[in-house]
Amino acid sequence: MSETVPSNPPTGAPKARPTAAAEDYLERIAALIKTKGYARVVDIAAELKISQASVTTMVQRLDADGLVKYEKYRGMVLTDAGEAVAARIAHRHELLTQLLRFFDLPEDVIFRDVEGMEHHISGETLDALERLTRHLEANPEIVAQLRR
Ligand code: MN
Repeated sequence: MSETVPSNPPTGAPKARPTAAAEDYLERIAALIKTKGYARVVDIAAELKISQASVTTMVQRLDADGLVKYEKYRGMVLTDAGEAVAARIAHRHELLTQLLRFFDLPEDVIFRDVEGMEHHISGETLDALERLTRHLEANPEIVAQLRR
């Protein structure tokens, strides 16, 4: 009879990936800062259609995790770590969007599906899809074959 030994996370593993909700917040915050120069709780609440109280709770958690610097009356900025995570999220979103556009799908379908897929895809699979995307980009005749 063997006893099941719980497996320990590998040492030196990267920090736990942010939750899907945290990723959505970081994505919005980065986009707001890029377009407006700042991000406030009220703007994030409006964009994500969530109460300001819920947004404040999440932003405080992102602050505690070192991803955001939040000041109650001045809004928030991304820390360097937050910037790095937001850049990874933006890259993933753009890559998946580029891949799906090869199939000539409606933009609203692409956006909705990317918003779902992006939270669940592993780094390994994203790397594979990035190679596929670069290959299709370089070979438009294959893209033409794939389209209907
Ligand atoms: Mn996205």
